Amino acid sequence: MARLFHRFDCPCCDPAVAKRREVIRAGFGGLLALAGTSIGARAQTAGAGGARTIRIRRMQTGESFEGVYWRNGRYERDALRRLDVVFRDPSMDETTPMDPRLFDVLFTVARHLDSDEFYEVISGYRAPETNAARSRQSRRVSRVSLHMSGMAADVRLPGRQSMGIARTAADMQIGGVGLYRRDGFVHLDCGPARRW
Ligand SMILES: [Zn+2]
Repeated sequence: MARLFHRFDCPCCDPAVAKRREVIRAGFGGLLALAGTSIGARAQTAGAGGARTIRIRRMQTGESFEGVYWRNGRYERDALRRLDVVFRDPSMDETTPMDPRLFDVLFTVARHLDSDEFYEVISGYRAPETNAARSRQSRRVSRVSLHMSGMAADVRLPGRQSMGIARTAADMQIGGVGLYRRDGFVHLDCGPARRW
């Protein structure tokens, strides 16, 4: 089953690659202008009624999460635990504590797009074994990936073009944004602001 999704693998999470791109990009758009503001702070200003809600559906398993994951200044522990399961590596059946700032990125992007749809998650956490196997199979897959740190997700949003999602996310400069237009998904992570 997982094999079907190999072609969707996100290749571009290597911090060294990201760093180079960041430097290049900074020359054009002042990418680092907002680097001092945390994702959490910006998500908070975007939040409504002191709560942050996300809707997630996992393509491989059909599992989903819908609900509040942050309320009144705190992440909801039970919600995070459930999200960790949805974002697990399905081929290894391995779970990791996801970086909750990733959910802030997803929340903020959906909010700016004014979307209530479920994100379709193609890839979330990636176990080291999975990533190593895939990077051996394809030179497009980085050996070091923020997916392995629970900081990245490859997603779609029904009814939205991947280009529009990527542009919105990149404009907000809240993390890494990779557009995989041909495959119709966007890589989002809570690492340094950068774009490819
Ligand atoms: Zn990715």
